[in-house]
Amino acid sequence: MIVAEIHSLEGGCFCGAVRYRLKTPPMFVNCCHCRDCQRQTGSAFVINGVIEADRIELLKGKPEAVSMPTESGRPHDIYRCPECRIALWSDYGRRPMRFVRMSTLDDAAAFAPDAHIFTRSKLPWVRLSEDIPAFDIFYDMKTQWPADSLKRREALLGQGK
Ligand SMILES: [Zn+2]
Ligand SMILES: [Zn+2]
Repeated sequence: MIVAEIHSLEGGCFCGAVRYRLKTPPMFVNCCHCRDCQRQTGSAFVINGVIEADRIELLKGKPEAVSMPTESGRPHDIYRCPECRIALWSDYGRRPMRFVRMSTLDDAAAFAPDAHIFTRSKLPWVRLSEDIPAFDIFYDMKTQWPADSLKRREALLGQGK
């Protein structure tokens, strides 16, 4: 959900060795409160913008994939700056889709999450606003994602995936 005038969809790691630009806004923005995201960030949640891998243009440097073990066994690679090791995006399932850590954008306030997910493990002191839907685990994509975004996802992954 775009909440501010977007001046730039550029972002980068902390040290500046990796810079990127999103060619378009993401399909959807999840704020994930699952335990994996909490542990992997050391924070309360992570804000993931779901976007086609080829819509991330690298302007400088090249992030390195670090594979995370998962309960499901599905691959989860976190792409990190080779210098400062800050995480820029994730690849779940080795599909042509990335989950960009939206606070690495220069304009971190440009997007609000479209949904809160895995709120069953949300930290108790985090209070959610009522204008963003929240889900214990996950949601039905067909009812939550905008039609345009569903089309983009279908074009990328095919129907019913
Ligand atoms: Zn860096
Ligand atoms: Zn998560």
